[in-house]
Order: sequence, then structure tokens, then C-alpha cells
Amino acid sequence: MFKKILIANRGEIALRIINACRELGIKTVAVYSEADKDSLHVKFADECICIGPPPAYKSYLHIPSIIAAAEITGADAIHPGYGFLAENAHFADVCKSCGITFIGPEPEHIRLMGDKAIARSTVMKKNIPIVPGSEGEASDIDEIKKLASQMGYPVILKASAGGGGKGMRVVWSENDLQNQFEMAKTEAKSAFGNDAIYMEKYIENPRHIEFQIVADRHGNVIHLGERECSIQRNHQKIIEEAPSSILTDSLRKEMGQAAKRAASAIGYSSLGTVEFLLDRKGNFYFMEMNTRIQVEHTVTEGVTDIDLVKLQIEVAAGEKLNIRQRDVKISGHAIECRINAEDPLTFMPSPGRIDVFHTPGGPGVRIDTAAYAGYVVPPYYDSMIAKVIAHGRDRKEAIVRMKRALEMFLIEGVKTNIPLHLSILEDEGFLKGDINTHFMEEFFEKNEVSDS
Ligand code: ADP
Repeated sequence: MFKKILIANRGEIALRIINACRELGIKTVAVYSEADKDSLHVKFADECICIGPPPAYKSYLHIPSIIAAAEITGADAIHPGYGFLAENAHFADVCKSCGITFIGPEPEHIRLMGDKAIARSTVMKKNIPIVPGSEGEASDIDEIKKLASQMGYPVILKASAGGGGKGMRVVWSENDLQNQFEMAKTEAKSAFGNDAIYMEKYIENPRHIEFQIVADRHGNVIHLGERECSIQRNHQKIIEEAPSSILTDSLRKEMGQAAKRAASAIGYSSLGTVEFLLDRKGNFYFMEMNTRIQVEHTVTEGVTDIDLVKLQIEVAAGEKLNIRQRDVKISGHAIECRINAEDPLTFMPSPGRIDVFHTPGGPGVRIDTAAYAGYVVPPYYDSMIAKVIAHGRDRKEAIVRMKRALEMFLIEGVKTNIPLHLSILEDEGFLKGDINTHFMEEFFEKNEVSDS
């Protein structure tokens, strides 16, 4: 097992990793930017090193500073968290060449799954259904036109290097194709430095269902059930839950096996998430595989009682999985609300000093946060300041617990999206579990969200 792990991240996920390391008896090193000197991850890690000025490209994304920090402190592994360098294959390569374990998959697996067009063709060969579309990158407009008219509109153009919902364009008719194609390319180039685009059939009103898998270095792969992530705004998740109220046992089994096949197909080892779209007829399609710990891993922890970060560290250290598929039991229901420091009406980030910060508790409520009263939310990074996770014996109880937790979560000084969450929790469709990835658009058409 590792003796010391450097955490190349900040905020709640850095604290989450510190929790896991403390339980495993591993020392931790926090790295931080000048904007984060008063952060809790700096306070609670065993050692800390400032790695640069506030902008992420000068600190949390600056590979030489992070590697230097690991070498100075003698860390034998680096946990990248999510975002920043978590899916950067070059960083994983650099760690390897410096003799430091990257807590994640092999660089070639990050590379393969990071190129979504290549990932599609890889899993397709393993009999995993993919959304119909281009085979690999789509570069020739005439070919795209031909394929789109064969498949029928609408289609969606997506960036091969995509993430965070960027570089995606839905095209409703041939008249728009060329224009949207140029725009998708420009957007992809500026967001990812890579303008490769691929095309998929646009599935109307699907559900986003993803499976958590974990694979060790000895060929064992299990899945830990699914997460329903259909409540999204601009293709970004807002609320996640487990299990999904739409899956039957047999569909769960089928999708779980497909997720495991996707990982086995490439000899993957680490935690991973296989994302699917599920259409209204119950057909599912592979969308992509994420090779990191995800924000919403907490709902899986809620229903399986398995600590995913500890598991991730253990398999990275070469340990064999000590859980078999049949040992994985899903118990009750868990929901996560992402609390962002943002205006609930305009969605503009709301950085600044938090004057009052009272977190709720009680049965079935978990709060993952790095914020506190007096903490200043910096303007440089993601606006998520807390995750509230409610667990109950069933979905109804999880929702009731979430509601009372959010009502008793006091945050003053910055604006948050708590009012938005509370009104979603009252929505009739949401309460019935009648949701899809367009839920939020329809929600905004019929509701007015207050800002307090
Ligand atoms: P990213 O990696 O940028 O998050 P994904 O490929 O995971 O992108 O897609 C994000 C979201 O975009 C999905 O959850 C879904 O809501 C929507 N989406 C992606 N592909 C399709 C498609 N073919 N049809 C319909 N919706 C899609």
C-alpha cells in the first residue's frame, strides 16, 4: 500500500480523498494555489505545498509544479480527483516515468476512452450497442450529409475530445448541417484544442443512465449498479440518484454486463463509469466511459455502502478486488443535489465570502463540502461548493430527507441554487420519476424559480 498520496485537486473532492487516506492510514500532501491558502484541504492534509498563482493553468494544471511537489515530499502516488488533470493521459505518462503511481487507469486507457470517436468503435466491436452514427471521426461534410439523411434528422455533432457538454450541436435539418458543423468544430477547437467531430443520431427525450464499474489489475471487474443522471442543464448534471426508477432487474443486469464488457474489452483497471442513453422503448446505447472518480460517486456509496475512493486507491496499489459481483447489494435509494454558488435565476457564478454556513444533518443525510463560515469562494474555479446526499429506504424517503436538509442548509453571503433544487423536488414529474434529459427545459417553461 502507498505511504503518502499527493492530492492534485482542491475543494470537496480533495477532502474526500483525505478522508479515505486517513481511514487507510496513508499520509497526504495537499497542493494549493495562492487563492486556496485558507482551504480546508490545506488544513487537513499532513503536508502542503503552494504550487502557483490562482489561474488553474498556472497551478492545478501545471504538471511540472505538481510533480516537483510530489518529489519534494516523497509521495509515492498522486490522486487527481475529478476535473483538472484527472483525464489527462500525458500527466499519467509523466507520473509513470517519474516512478509515481497515478491513481487511475493506464495512460493508454485514458487516451482511448478520452477520444470518444475511438471509444465508440472499440466498444462496438464487443457487441455493445452504440448510438447509430459515424464510424470514428466525421471530417467530410458530404459524407456527413449522406449519413445524416440515411439515419434521419435530428442528429447531434459532438467533439471527439469533448467533456462537460461542450462542443455539442443538435441539427434538426439538412439546411443547418454545414453551419452547425463549422460551429461545432470552432467550439471544439477553442475548448479542447482539437477540432475532431463525430456524429450520432439524436435520441429524443432519453434518460442518462451510467454504471459504476471497478476493475483490478488481476482481471476482475464488477459493477456497482447504475446512477440516473437525467436532471441536467446544458448537458451538465444537477441531481443524480441511485437506483434509477426506470430499470427492471433484467435491464439492469444487461446494462451492467455491457458496462463490464466495455472495461474488459480494453483490459481496463481502476474505477470507471460507463455512460448510456436509454430511449423510451428501453433500448440502451453506449455514450462514453469516464476514467475518473465522478462527482456523483456518493449516491453509489449510499446504496452499496462501499467506499469508492478507498477501493480506487486499493486497486491502484495492485490489490485484488475483495468484493464479488454477487456481494454487491443495492439498499434503499440515494439522491445527490449539487449546490453551486450561483444565481438561481441567471446561473451566473456568485463568488465571494460566505458569512453564514450551517450544514444540516440527521438520519440519512451526508454533506460533502470544503466550505465554512468565513470561507471566500474564489472566482477562478468551478462554482460547486457542496454536495448534499440523502439516503432513504425508498425514493420517497430519500426525497423527503433531501427536502428537509436543503430547507435547513443555511448559506449567506453568496447566492446558491438551493431554491432551484427545492422547486425541482416539488415537481410532479420528478416525484413520479418521470424524467429525461429534457426535464429542466420543460421545468423552466412551467415554473418560476425564486432567488431566495
Ligand atoms: P460530455 O462528455 O460533454 O458530458 P456526453 O457524451 O456525456 O458529453 O453527453 C452529455 C449529455 O448530452 C448526455 O447526458 C445527454 O443528455 C446529451 N446527449 C449526448 N449524446 C446524445 C445523443 N446522441 N442523443 C441525445 N442526447 C445526447
